[in-house]
Amino acid sequence: MSDKVVLVTGGTGLIGTAIQTVVKREALPDEKWFFVSSKDANLQLEADTFALFEKYKPTHVIHLAADFGGLYHNLRANLDVFRNNMKINDNVLYSCYKYNVQKCVSCLSTSIFPAKTTYPINETMIHSGPPHQSDFGYSYAKRMIDVMNRGYNVQHSCKFVSVVPTNVFGPFDNFNLEDGNVMPATIHKVFCSKRDNLPFVIWGTGSPRRQFIYSLDLARLFLWVLREYDDVSPIILSVGEEDEVSIKEAAEMVIEAFDFKGKVVFDTSKSDGQFKKTAHNGKLRSYLPDFKFTPIKQAIKETVDWFTGNFETARK
Ligand code: NAP
Ligand code: GDP
Repeated sequence: MSDKVVLVTGGTGLIGTAIQTVVKREALPDEKWFFVSSKDANLQLEADTFALFEKYKPTHVIHLAADFGGLYHNLRANLDVFRNNMKINDNVLYSCYKYNVQKCVSCLSTSIFPAKTTYPINETMIHSGPPHQSDFGYSYAKRMIDVMNRGYNVQHSCKFVSVVPTNVFGPFDNFNLEDGNVMPATIHKVFCSKRDNLPFVIWGTGSPRRQFIYSLDLARLFLWVLREYDDVSPIILSVGEEDEVSIKEAAEMVIEAFDFKGKVVFDTSKSDGQFKKTAHNGKLRSYLPDFKFTPIKQAIKETVDWFTGNFETARK
């Protein structure tokens, strides 16, 4: 059998670097991996995207590249996020078709599901109503990946699939205080509060609920999807519903990991975003009943240790 050439767009981000780590551990002899970033090609540009595919001639693609940030990034720039991601996704999926890629795995998010919904959310509900107004640009652009995957499958028999992770965190995350997701931003804030002997401020009420997934667990699941998931319909990659925690509880775990003893205050002038997005991982469990997720406290401690050890160079 000829070698698989796997191209990972967004290969230098949070999820891409986690996949790099797992691939180093679990490489298969018939796979060659290439992890690319915006420095290799600006995927908003069709010519750059074609040139990238010409260069690597991938047989398989994991498509992670996105204009991506936490709630407050999306709130500030819904239109830009929509346009940037529409361009990136159209260029990448069209190139996968044009260059005969055998399988493409793209990344949706549980953020994109309808704001008014029944719980738990499952894979059939992606288009069942408008997304939350806080990140409509990100959500509609992501939903269009599902539309394009279906189109390429129906019209051209392409095997383009998408996975739907919940809120991801881990080493190499974006720890920016304004634009990062809640977990990396909280880790950075508690680090600074401890260092400077200042109160730690949680944005919003702390009551919204999220399912967090460790990037290294998600990376193992990505490899399984690429190698073994043979369906073309989306699949939620998430911890169980019972593992959902409030933002306050997540912050308390970060506080514990840092052994921070200072004052904690809530800035309720900041948006809470969607209250919850509880996702059902029944489909994943039907394939992988024994998959073990890293316990959240251990994953947070590993991420805190990574951030502390790499403070100077971490993305922030
Ligand atoms: P990330 O850390 O922000 O990394 C983004 C990656 O995309 C970087 O490698 C970046 O390259 C690349 N990129 C951005 N704009 C690009 C462009 N115009 N051309 C080429 N490359 C570009 O993101 P992540 O957290 O790993 O997320 C990866 C995917 O998972 C995204 O599609 C995101 O929507 C999805 N997702 C993430 C989460 C989460 O909680 N993190 C949850 C659900 C879904 P540079 O570094 O060179 O800019
Ligand atoms: P989401 O899961 O897509 O909404 O994205 P986030 O990872 O940005 O999580 C947003 C939730 O965390 C909201 O309820 C915010 O109010 C809360 N939150 C608390 N502190 C922070 C923070 O410093 N940054 C972010 N992004 N969210 C925060």
